[in-house]
Amino acid sequence: MTEPPIAALPSEPLPAVLPAEPFADVKALAAAAVDAARDEILGLSHLIHANPEPAFEEVRAAAWVAEAVGRHGYVVEHPAGSLATAVRGRLTGGLGADGPRIGVLAEYDALPGLGHGCGHNTMASSGVGAAIALAAVRDRWAGEVVFLGTPAEERGSGKEIMLREGLFDGLDAALLFHPCDRNHVEIAPLASEDVDVVFTGLQSHAASEPWEGRNALDAMIALFVSVGLWRQGLPPHCRVHGIIQEGGTAANIIPDRTRAWFMIRSAEQPYYEVMKARFRQLCEAAALVAGVTVEIEFSGASSTMKHNRTLAARWVANADAYGIADEGMDQSSGSTDMANVSWAMPAIHPDLAITDMPTPGHSIEFRDAAGRPRADRTVLLASTLVAQTALDLLLDPALVRDAWREFRGEE
Ligand SMILES: [Zn+2]
Ligand SMILES: [Zn+2]
Repeated sequence: MTEPPIAALPSEPLPAVLPAEPFADVKALAAAAVDAARDEILGLSHLIHANPEPAFEEVRAAAWVAEAVGRHGYVVEHPAGSLATAVRGRLTGGLGADGPRIGVLAEYDALPGLGHGCGHNTMASSGVGAAIALAAVRDRWAGEVVFLGTPAEERGSGKEIMLREGLFDGLDAALLFHPCDRNHVEIAPLASEDVDVVFTGLQSHAASEPWEGRNALDAMIALFVSVGLWRQGLPPHCRVHGIIQEGGTAANIIPDRTRAWFMIRSAEQPYYEVMKARFRQLCEAAALVAGVTVEIEFSGASSTMKHNRTLAARWVANADAYGIADEGMDQSSGSTDMANVSWAMPAIHPDLAITDMPTPGHSIEFRDAAGRPRADRTVLLASTLVAQTALDLLLDPALVRDAWREFRGEE
């Protein structure tokens, strides 16, 4: 893998604009704080981009993120909970602790064999950037900002683990930006889970007595063929895809063990359960075909998303001040554990473009885009908009109540 290009620092500042009301004066101070810290914020983005670490192994990224928020006055727990690469930083407002508690999130895991093909370096740095901005205007708000460094989004649903461990307890809202090639505050992620499939057979000489073996690769091929046929009968909102991670060790040995990593997904949570049951049947049928045994392990579930229009409206207004027009609901979502958070509290997971060209995620092109000056501008913009949306909430407890009323379906 070649190293992606790294943009030269120092960076360009964001254009100075009049932030959206209400609280435009405090929001302008937050924007100025992002600008003052822009080399620190972008340095972090490039450092993480150049040192990609996969899910649960984000050791350096988590340490850099923890160190950065600690430098700006946050009381840091690292690790936070059971995950070695989870971080929590807390900062109480200068006007007192009695007020809204707002979660500012960050992700930093990369993709195996690709690097930051999802651009999570921009999420880590902009989460830190928003935390820095909110610390800089601390004297203007009451309540608490809780920075959460959340590992393992690409595999394993780190946020679900952190939710279960109580690390989100007491929060009034959760905010997290994601890089994209378009601008959307509303996304529609698919319910999703990872599936490990292991077929176990029996080795034998592939030429002299193949009939003495039981071929675990035959089962794997039968499974992939079945999945291919199954796709015709799946509704368009479903996805199933996988790779073979172990396919045998030598052509002259009947493989006794094969392993695949699948993901199954659906835009409809109830239909997802139907898919899951069917996928299990296909695995068992493939094992039967080849006369081998199968182990199936589901993990890292993420859900569909509960969108919060109250929070989204403030994001859109804040973004509009910077000339960002929302393009409506993102029709091409993958999956995210931020969706799990959205069922625990009001949450938004807005997309901002880091490139002006149509660029698919999880690609070399997107990875390289995440390290360019165009992405740097978006990192500064995302830092600013997350901080400004957090300020809308911190400075207006009635907005927090509205977000919760919508969340509970009481409006
Ligand atoms: Zn991502
Ligand atoms: Zn991704």
